[in-house]
Amino acid sequence: MEKNDYRNDTAVFGSEEMLQPAPADKLPMHGTRPEVAYQMVKDETFAQTQPRLNLATFVTTYMDPFATRLMNEAISINYIDETEYPRVAVMSAKCINIMANLWNTPEQSKWKTGALAIGSSEACMLGGVAAWLRWRERREAQGKPYDKPNFVISTGYQVVWEKFADLWQIEMRTIPLSREHPTLDAQAVIAKCDENTICVVPIQGVTWTGLNDDVEAIDKALDEYNARTGYDIPIHVDAASGGFILPFINPEKRWDFRLKWVLSISTSGHKYGLVYPGLGWVVWKDKKYLPGKMSFSVNYLGADITQVGLNFSRPAAQILGQYYQFIRLGYEGYKQVQSNSMEIARYLHDEIGKMPQFANYCDEVVNPLFIWHMCKDYAPTARWTLYDLQDKLKQNGWMVPAYSMPKDIEEMVVMRIVVRQGFSRDMADMLLDDMRAAITELERLEYPTPSRLAQDRNEKVNGSVFTHTGHKREKQH
Ligand SMILES: *Cc1c(COP(=O)(O)O)cnc(C)c1O
Repeated sequence: MEKNDYRNDTAVFGSEEMLQPAPADKLPMHGTRPEVAYQMVKDETFAQTQPRLNLATFVTTYMDPFATRLMNEAISINYIDETEYPRVAVMSAKCINIMANLWNTPEQSKWKTGALAIGSSEACMLGGVAAWLRWRERREAQGKPYDKPNFVISTGYQVVWEKFADLWQIEMRTIPLSREHPTLDAQAVIAKCDENTICVVPIQGVTWTGLNDDVEAIDKALDEYNARTGYDIPIHVDAASGGFILPFINPEKRWDFRLKWVLSISTSGHKYGLVYPGLGWVVWKDKKYLPGKMSFSVNYLGADITQVGLNFSRPAAQILGQYYQFIRLGYEGYKQVQSNSMEIARYLHDEIGKMPQFANYCDEVVNPLFIWHMCKDYAPTARWTLYDLQDKLKQNGWMVPAYSMPKDIEEMVVMRIVVRQGFSRDMADMLLDDMRAAITELERLEYPTPSRLAQDRNEKVNGSVFTHTGHKREKQH
């Protein structure tokens, strides 16, 4: 039979294509029936785990049916086609206004200064580049060299900051996290600053730990330092998660534009902004902090909108999704959703903390995520590791990642849970039951697991506990 010689009633799984390997190198010569092509692609992307049982990701895995419909209907819209869809740009600007106000912007103009991004990664890049260009302009005006820029961040940084450093050739000065200083220490920050520091980057919702850097303390320390030295070192807050948690859970806490040196903030609309990927936002405290080189203004429908971004074409559906969520939920709605996530995270944190094998990394839960590790006195007696528990839970469909901590505390292996909208107390109880059952099985093992043996070997060699071999830095979602 010729490849395309099928009868219309040939069943998908009766087709020739389903007997053949899928194309991996070359464009196939002939086409395939849509039903078959659909099935092949669908099967290959068959979820390894139920997205909502994936407690590793920060990214939205649930939106209500109206949001889903709205976004699906907008799938063909390119954001950049402003002449065709001018209202989408206006809608994006409204979202920026709403976020700027959630973060207490002092900017008075009708349209606040910010930009749409594909995620926090692009948003962080834009915030970082703006700080870099501002610093360059100032140095140039002072007749000083501007070839050795640096920025200061904790080792709890997300991988985008490593990219920012490498791609733009900006030195990344890191401050180790430790048990004594589980977040970015303000005095250590100052010790790393000099005339070439373009900005300091505290994180709200550190990917590795779920904790918040103390932006207020860093702001205060920088204020004294800047006054003493005559520098103008600002803060960019990477609030990928925290940007949509703090305004609802802890509105009194000062981490945002209320602080003097916070000039830009980035967040992921597709994390606790509650929109499907990919969507990010960056907002500046005022138009004057966005270098002219990065922006261009367009004027339509009476709205003067500033456009900034690394991409040209980009999907518009996420903007509709974000604006829908703002209207659908309102402040109270977001607060309820985030409070539920917080409460369920705290519940899991308490229950896991009570398990005799485990200890929580921190007593408090400030974002709906937390990490824990094996108790110091239990770990040496266990025939298993958290990597084994991760594998066991996977068998029940749960994705709960185990990983080693960043530099300087890398000997510590932890497990993390991120609670998002779509995760209920009932699901938390199911997870806890599955965890207890898995641990019971692991404790019955007569012989140590391979990961346990590797860990012990490594202890003997290095005097420290096994870490993932050869990893430069594990990707943190
Ligand atoms: C997730 C995250 C990022 C990257 O965000 P994306 O939206 O995935 O691009 C950056 N910083 C922190 C702290 C994050 O948690």
